[in-house]
Amino acid sequence: MKCKYSGFKIPVIVTILVLALVTVLVVINDIKSTSKPTNTDKQLSIEGQPTIGQSDAPVEIVEFGDFKCPACKKWGETIYPQLVADYVETGKAKFSYINVLFHGEESRLASLAAESVYMQRPESYWEFHKALFAEQPDQDHDGLWITNEKINEVAETVPGIDVKQLENDLDEPSVMEEVDRDESLVKEFGIEQTPSVIVNGQMLENPFDYEEIQSLIEEEIEGE
Ligand code: CA
Repeated sequence: MKCKYSGFKIPVIVTILVLALVTVLVVINDIKSTSKPTNTDKQLSIEGQPTIGQSDAPVEIVEFGDFKCPACKKWGETIYPQLVADYVETGKAKFSYINVLFHGEESRLASLAAESVYMQRPESYWEFHKALFAEQPDQDHDGLWITNEKINEVAETVPGIDVKQLENDLDEPSVMEEVDRDESLVKEFGIEQTPSVIVNGQMLENPFDYEEIQSLIEEEIEGE
């Protein structure tokens, strides 16, 4: 009787242990998979977006950024220059920037200004972009700093920009349409934080992990 009883119990215990092991493995696997880039399963069109690099470059990198976001400023000053030197200037990748308006009116004004510059003189865009981010205060970046005065002040430092025209273009429907286009891409791609970086359709888990970006780019180049 005792034996029989134990004989019934052991398979139950084994089953419970197996189930527990399976659960642990599933959980571990899940944790592993979240540290990898996630596939967006959507075609991201960069039509009309400021883009640097050769148009036929095999890898397409897209940043969703916000001029009011301190992490975007940091990304632009640390990761972006490495990316440009290693992959854009070597013809392996092209890079586009899409506006995100997570910080209200200031994000909107900065985006309108950037789109105006791009419309007026595309070759001045990246310098204006960099100069505007450089004006983001290190302390109290949530405080008001993106104003019409600031936009003009920054635009005056960038050669080739007609500041008067820029002021007028801020209300241009075609400029507003570009900002709207960016906002709909933000919704479509479920962007929840900035910067969000997509490499050939794959959303980086951590845009500050340069090794992750490199290995993904190298994989994409090899897969060509
Ligand atoms: Ca845009």
